[in-house]
Amino acid sequence: MRYTNTMQTLEDKLFLVRFQPDDHSHIHINNKELCQHDCPDKPCTYICPAKVYEWNEEVKAINVGYEGCLECGTCRYGCPRDNIHWVNPRGGFGVMYKFG
Ligand code: SF4
Repeated sequence: MRYTNTMQTLEDKLFLVRFQPDDHSHIHINNKELCQHDCPDKPCTYICPAKVYEWNEEVKAINVGYEGCLECGTCRYGCPRDNIHWVNPRGGFGVMYKFG
């Protein structure tokens, strides 16, 4: 009998996800200065599974790649300064999950 590994990796699962990005971001950083001066660890850059948040050293601000947001809501609780304004994308936009 041949054994088939049916376990999917996270990368396999994310490959099934489809996005319909809006031209307006549904995520905003309330106070960019706060990220630079009062948030040394910048947890948003590592708690988001879609890596939406990235520190830009040139402009000293967080880049928000909202187009890849998985709408999991992690960042709403992970920012220690409550500095992320997140709302659901407008109807018809955002992430579309296939197979669950
Ligand atoms: S966790 Fe919050 S305060 Fe810190 S860098 Fe990210 S958005 Fe800014």
